[in-house]
Amino acid sequence: MTFEELNIIPPILKALAQENYTSPTPIQEQAIPPVLAGRDLLGCAQTGTGKTAAFAVPILQLLSKGQGSKPGKRPIRSLILTPTRELAIQIQDNLEAYGRHTSLRSCVIFGGVSQKPQEAALKQGVDILVATPGRLIDLMNQGFIDLQHLQIFVLDEADRMLDMGFIHDVKRIVAKIPSKKQTLLFSATMPPEIAQMVKTILVNPVKVEITPVSSTVDKINQSLYFVDKENKQKQLIHLLEDKSIASVLVFTRTKHGADRVVRDLSRAGISAQAIHGNKSQNARQSALGNFKSGATRVLVATDIAARGIDIDELSHVINFNLPNIPETYVHRIGRTGRAGLSGTAISFCDIEEKPYLKDIEKVIGKTIPVVTDHPYPMMITTKPAEPVVKSRQPSRPSRNKPGSAQPKQAKPASKPAGSSGGKAGSPSRPSANRAKVRGKS
Ligand code: AMP
Repeated sequence: MTFEELNIIPPILKALAQENYTSPTPIQEQAIPPVLAGRDLLGCAQTGTGKTAAFAVPILQLLSKGQGSKPGKRPIRSLILTPTRELAIQIQDNLEAYGRHTSLRSCVIFGGVSQKPQEAALKQGVDILVATPGRLIDLMNQGFIDLQHLQIFVLDEADRMLDMGFIHDVKRIVAKIPSKKQTLLFSATMPPEIAQMVKTILVNPVKVEITPVSSTVDKINQSLYFVDKENKQKQLIHLLEDKSIASVLVFTRTKHGADRVVRDLSRAGISAQAIHGNKSQNARQSALGNFKSGATRVLVATDIAARGIDIDELSHVINFNLPNIPETYVHRIGRTGRAGLSGTAISFCDIEEKPYLKDIEKVIGKTIPVVTDHPYPMMITTKPAEPVVKSRQPSRPSRNKPGSAQPKQAKPASKPAGSSGGKAGSPSRPSANRAKVRGKS
């Protein structure tokens, strides 16, 4: 399946190609067509599945098609409500990236920072508003936001909204937006309150569920090495001294991490190549070709880059970093042991990854056997004060304060928020490499 086959319009196709998205993820494949057809959607999927593009791409497409040249301030036609500042910024980044060749404008608002730049951005007029609930209500109450012309409403991470005590704010917002609109609701889990909300706000929704297959896990020979972060490279090289490991797929958390592993393995005389989003399509194809032909023994990949890889007879997967989403672990190791072959999955776990291990073992329903006899046993057994690996779960603010401001973890931004429109104030997103969505009001 390609994005062309999903009938994505050329300006967005061009932007997706620039992002190095070669094919849609399963949730994109399933969600984009019904959303483009105007249907309500219930998406059961976690962050990391490509869910943002699953709603952002069709929204950009629908809105750019319906974009009139009416004079006056452009109305907000889509609202994306998300629980945390981090998610809001990430969604805005993605909208800017995917919409860079359209003339749509988007803007992000969240609490914990001055509202002035946000007011200024809103005054310029935006097509798509990304918001956290508390700040949205504040600005609505002050008359800066008019949602009368809303056509598409996205409720992102609904279950987390509930966890964080925002459900009443969400209900207040829903009560103020037009009842005739298209609604897309995403939630990784379906607690009763959310199931109830689904019934009341979605009309005949298409349900898209991205569930991991955990049954394959049982066939795979799993093992775990507790090893300090600093020693992971050495541990990997040590394991690869075993020549019976003919070809192995190594997963790292980041693109830089993947490059680093390749460099160190190459220095140790082990042929390795990386595939990740920063590599060109040609470079990725060639790395994959070399791996399949056996010319390269080790392929190092990030999760998304590995997604499209079709390798049938993979015997070994090594998790250089444990993923923070347990289902990702299941997907990774599920790449071995296919078609009746035996598979081996080896994982390295440092002190900061121990909480992930707990989550993984809960999901797979068993304890991964630990290898204790190895040259680099874990020496660091207390967590550093500032963990380098960010946990996905935010700290829980008080549930007793519906209507209160933003989540506790939404610390003041180093810079104020802004819109992506050319004149609408200076944007504040951390990823300055994104092109801006340009547009005229
Ligand atoms: P999300 O679940 O939306 O947070 O996406 C997870 C990561 O996957 C983000 O870094 C996206 O940029 C990336 N991503 C989303 N869709 C694709 C795709 N079709 N191909 C490659 N990367 C993607």
